[in-house]
Order: sequence, then structure tokens, then C-alpha cells
Amino acid sequence: TKESVKGFLRRNLFVLLTIAAVALGVMLGFALRPHNLTLREIKYFAFPGELLMRMLQMLVLPLIVSSLVTGISSLDSKASGKMGMWAVVYYMVTTLIAVFIGIVIVIVIKPGKGHRDSPVVSGSTIEPVQAADAFLDLIRNMFPPNLVEACFKQYKTVYKKTIYTKNVTVTLNLTDSLNATEAAVAANMSRVLQTIQVVLQLLWISVNTVVETIPVSGSSNGVNALGLVVFSMCFGLVIGSMKQQGQALRDFFDCLNEAIMRLVAIIIWYAPVGILFLIAGKIVEMKNLAEVGGQLGMYTVSVIVGLLIHGLFVLPLLYFLVTRKNPYTFIAGLLQALITALGTSSSSATLPITFRCLEENNRVDKRVTRFILPVGATINMDGTALYEAVAAIFIAQVNDMELNFGQILTISITATAASIGAAGIPQAGLVTMVIVLTSVGLPTEDITLIIAVDWFLDRLRTTTNVLGDSLGAGIVEHLSRQELQSQDVEVGNSVIEE
Ligand code: ASP
Repeated sequence: TKESVKGFLRRNLFVLLTIAAVALGVMLGFALRPHNLTLREIKYFAFPGELLMRMLQMLVLPLIVSSLVTGISSLDSKASGKMGMWAVVYYMVTTLIAVFIGIVIVIVIKPGKGHRDSPVVSGSTIEPVQAADAFLDLIRNMFPPNLVEACFKQYKTVYKKTIYTKNVTVTLNLTDSLNATEAAVAANMSRVLQTIQVVLQLLWISVNTVVETIPVSGSSNGVNALGLVVFSMCFGLVIGSMKQQGQALRDFFDCLNEAIMRLVAIIIWYAPVGILFLIAGKIVEMKNLAEVGGQLGMYTVSVIVGLLIHGLFVLPLLYFLVTRKNPYTFIAGLLQALITALGTSSSSATLPITFRCLEENNRVDKRVTRFILPVGATINMDGTALYEAVAAIFIAQVNDMELNFGQILTISITATAASIGAAGIPQAGLVTMVIVLTSVGLPTEDITLIIAVDWFLDRLRTTTNVLGDSLGAGIVEHLSRQELQSQDVEVGNSVIEE
């Protein structure tokens, strides 16, 4: 038994270390709270966590490109077609189920009923991004005109507010509805100019003041992973079809992928330290949770209950129904990725660890993970979809707005779209919420109602997102096993399973 204890420890070393890091981080965080550290001190304190985040992000881009290109180019078109089809079916079905669960829960719990208890920022004449613009952004992001730029920027509709008078032209870019300062500036500007106009007109001087608000294309910081995914998939398909001629590129990307995964294996040693400080830092920094009562508290509970039902029951059940294997054993192998998601609130940053957990612990075929994971981390976000639906209906409840069936249906569709469009970075879902709210005419400034708890819910929904991607890889592997086997026979599977 001594041997088996040793064996257990060795096999689960990282998981145990990571769990210990979480526990320590929580304790350390709460121990430091009474000391009222300044923001600067907190930043210094959380620095090891910031480093982990940066290390992981550093690997994401080469990882997405190399894994997709090798993943797809090493599959024959039949296998990749089948796998892609199953992945899309899985993403759609699970996202819709998540939205459905969210809707049922928020309707049953009704967190927003009663008096509106949170202050609302109002008085800004912000021009909300329309649902249509956000959809167009989604498509736009699929085709980045500049691949290098796509590594740093994604496209986002910007409202350009131009105010002309005879001799003054003011142009303001309103990036998104959360930017209240710019909105306030714009509103003031136009008021001032309109006053000037009135005064001048009184003086019989005629001038034209036009305040125009038009959507134009702009860009915002943040990796456009979607664009890179689309490009890498197409590139992989083409290299795959080039047979012998494409061998050099296949080898190159395969080697690159292998090298990145070796870097991941090194970073994983540092991960527990980083996670400890990420969590402790956040706990030191967070506002007093006791203040979150009433409606916001019930809203938080609704999202958590929904995520738990989806992540712990629905997704595992689906996995079991398809594969007939124990889903919880599979989830146990993912623990480290799940905790990293909790610590970083970014499914993109977690991607390297997700790869490692699936390939090393759960032995999922690399051809599947390489193909499925980058796509999943970018577009499949069950947790985000569930949260968007709950948040939108919560805001409707707070505003005493009765939603009819059509509107609820609209919310389910737009929440799905908003989750696809959200990047795998912290709090991206909060921004794409605008799509859902405007689609049913809810006030976008009410997003401020839920900001206070978003950092926390973001971590939980990111964990659910990563869980969904990972179980999806297991399910797709099972459903495509025939194609994978027949390809094994053909090529002897030499490249993949050295
Ligand atoms: N942070 C989430 C993720 O990376 C996205 C979101 O904000 O919902 O998966």
C-alpha cells in the first residue's frame, strides 16, 4: 500500500498541488484582507499570478495556429468533415441546453422581482451598439485582413459621433456602451454646440450643426482568436490536400506544436504558484461581499445554480449517454484545467493546460484535441450563454418588463450568438451582452447593475466553458473513432503517436 500511495501521489502530483494552491490562496487572501492593502500593494502581491497569466497567453497564439494546422492537415477530408460536423452539433446542442437551463432558472427564482435596489448610472446619451452590428462584427472577425494584427486586435463596431458646425467639427468614437465617460463628453459637446447654434441663430447668423451617429468599423485590443482559427483551419485543409508537396509544412507545424507543448510542460510547474497568487490577490482586492444582497445576491445564486446543473449533471449525462464511460473520471483528469480557468477567468489562457490534461491524463487522441480544442475555446461557451440569458431576463425583471414567448426566444438566439462572439478573455461576456439586451429593447446601461459580481461569475462561467470544450473533445473522439481507426490503418499513424 505504501507503493500505491506513492504511485497515487506521483500520478496526481500537479492536481494535488493545484488544489493546495487554491486552498492556500483563499486562506492567504482572507488573512490579508483586514490589512487594507493599497491597490499598489495588491498589484505587487498578485504579481506572480499576473506572470502566469502572461506565460499562458504567450503560448496561446502559436498553440492555436500550430495545433489547428497539424490537426486538420493530418486528417483525411472524410475524418475532418465528420469530426467538424459532430463538433458543431455538440456545440449547438449544449449551448442551447445551457441557455434553456438559464431561462428556466431565472424565471423560477425571479431574482429581479421587487424594488430595484441598486443605483443606476443614467443620463448618458450613449448610442448602443445594435444587435446587427455585433453580428456583423462576428463575421468580420472571421476574416482578419491582417493576420499579424489579428494577434493583437479584434474588430468591433464603433459609433462615430460627428458634430459639425460651420467651423467646428468634433468626432468622438464611442467604443462600447460601457464607456460612460466618452458618452458624457459627447452629450456635453453636442449640448454646448447646440446652444452656440441657437445663440448664433438669434444673431441672424445661420450655421448648421449636425450631430450624426453612424456605426463605423473599428478595432479594439484583444486577440482575434476567431480570425486565427478560421485562417488556420483553411490553411490546414489546403496543406492536407497537397499530399507529398505539403509535407514540409506539415512537419514544421507538427514540430512547432510539439515544442509549444513542451513549454507547457515546463510552465505547469509554475502554475500552482501563479494560481495561488491570482486567487489570493483577487480575494484581497474584492469588495465586501456582504454588501451584495437583495436582487444582485439572488441573481448571483441563479447563475451559480444554472452553471452547476449544466456542468455537473447535464454535460456529464450527455458524455455518459454517448460514450458509456464514467464522466466523472474524465472530469477528474481535467481538474487542473478547471482550476486554471477559475484562476485566470480566460478560456484562451487556459487552453494550454486544457490540452495537456486531455492528452496526458485522459488520453484523448491528439488529432481530436488539436482540431477541436482551439475551436471550442473560441466559440463554444456554454457558461457564457447561460449567464447572458439569466442576466438579460434579470434586467427585464428589474425593469418590471414582462417578456413574451417571442422575446424569450429572441433572447435564447442572441445569447447563443453573444456566447459565440465573446472572446475567451476575462469578462468578454459582459460586453457581448449588448447584443442580447438591444435585441429585446432592454436598457444597455443596466449592465451596470451586474458589474459588481461579474468578476466572480466570470470565473465560474469560464470554468463551465472549459468543461464543455473538454467533454466535447471526448464525445467527438468517441463519435469519430471509426474514421480515426481507418486512418490509422492507412498511414500507420506514425506522425501522431510517436
Ligand atoms: N471569460 C470567459 C471565457 O474566457 C468569457 C466570458 O466573459 O464569458 O471563457
